[in-house]
Amino acid sequence: MKNNCVFCAIQAGEIPSEKFYEDERMIVIKDIEPKAALHYLAIPKRHYKLLGEMTESDREDLGKIFATIPSLAEKLGLEGGYRLIINQGDDAGQTVFHLHIHILGGQKMDFPEL
Ligand code: 5GP
Ligand code: ZN
Repeated sequence: MKNNCVFCAIQAGEIPSEKFYEDERMIVIKDIEPKAALHYLAIPKRHYKLLGEMTESDREDLGKIFATIPSLAEKLGLEGGYRLIINQGDDAGQTVFHLHIHILGGQKMDFPEL
């Protein structure tokens, strides 16, 4: 598996996923263990672990990814709104070390309890 990374393996088609969108810089798939009524992952095609490890072109890419997500809201059933989460490191509970954006919605959400 490339980089020993589950999200690189999904990009390469080595692990199946339910894909809702793809362009030259990201895929959007359904999370395998949903934490909300609707739970997607927007995964940049480039592999990097943390926001702090981005190159200049990773930054440009991520900016475009954020600009694209609102245009997918209707297709993803998120007309009522959605929440974006990027876990960074152990304290945040990051388990896959390939940067990704959680897209949660399909229900009213409280602020996460600590
Ligand atoms: P993190 O905890 O790193 O912020 O989020 C990783 C997410 O990836 C988790 O919500 C987990 O359910 C999801 N995930 C882990 N392995 C797979 C997989 O093989 N397929 C899909 N679709 N999601 C996965
Ligand atoms: Zn990766």
